[in-house]
Amino acid sequence: MREYDELQRLDRQERDARVEEVYQSVPKIREIDENRGVLALSIVREGREADIKEAFAEIKKEKQDLLKKAGFPSDYMEMRYRCPDCMDTGYADGKKCHCLIARENKILYAQSNIENILKKENFNTLDESLYSEQEHMSKVVAYCKKFVREFGSESQKGNLLFTGSTGAGKTFLCNCIAKELMEQNHSVIYLSAIELFDIMAQSKVRHTEDVMINELYDRIFDCDVLVIDDLGSELTNSLTNSNLFFLLNHRILSGRATLISTNLGIDALRDVYTERVTSRIMSSYDIIPVIGRDIRLHS
Ligand SMILES: [Zn+2]
Repeated sequence: MREYDELQRLDRQERDARVEEVYQSVPKIREIDENRGVLALSIVREGREADIKEAFAEIKKEKQDLLKKAGFPSDYMEMRYRCPDCMDTGYADGKKCHCLIARENKILYAQSNIENILKKENFNTLDESLYSEQEHMSKVVAYCKKFVREFGSESQKGNLLFTGSTGAGKTFLCNCIAKELMEQNHSVIYLSAIELFDIMAQSKVRHTEDVMINELYDRIFDCDVLVIDDLGSELTNSLTNSNLFFLLNHRILSGRATLISTNLGIDALRDVYTERVTSRIMSSYDIIPVIGRDIRLHS
């Protein structure tokens, strides 16, 4: 909440600076603003309270015309919020705003050191020349960038499965996408499959009282983007299988995006996670083969 107080202070400071800039270049507007109170008072004195609204609307119109003439946007003197939905308070309609949830997730992220990883692994640091299958991988990278660009729009299905051998760059691509989407203020949770199933087991099976684990458990269901890294590296059993189906199905039905990376091919997925899970993935995910030699050896 301290961050939000600071944001609101910055919002006001920036608005005040814009107002001062306008006053400098259009003194007439300063005059109008200064006379606003006097005008209101005289209207009240004359007993015409009902006209105040109209009078202020006229003033507003006059100011906007002046602003426009001077080349400023018409809302230049208004508050500009980083998040218009909650006006940078963190809450909207008494509920946590999506921007607050994204911020909290960022804090969770920071604790798992992911921000440092994302600083190193993003589209700017991605070196396509490292791929042995450059033509294919260029297409994959372009596809990922398009995914980020169109994220949230209707044409965007929102689920990706990266499949390919270890070190071919699947995790790197997931990281690139996660970073961009975080910067678009989407709430992103990034977990290795081992961590994911551990959280599910602790929260749902062992009913832990660890607040952080229970919080994370809720978040894996309702965050905008869930990244599951290295699916198939965990120990699987019928319980993890049903947990996985429950989670993926919930996210598909509620229209939330999931990115999965796995060393397993589709047939192997079927062997490990049953037909039910695999066909759910096949029908709702874009499957992206990431091929090539181990790029880590060349970086
Ligand atoms: Zn907000």
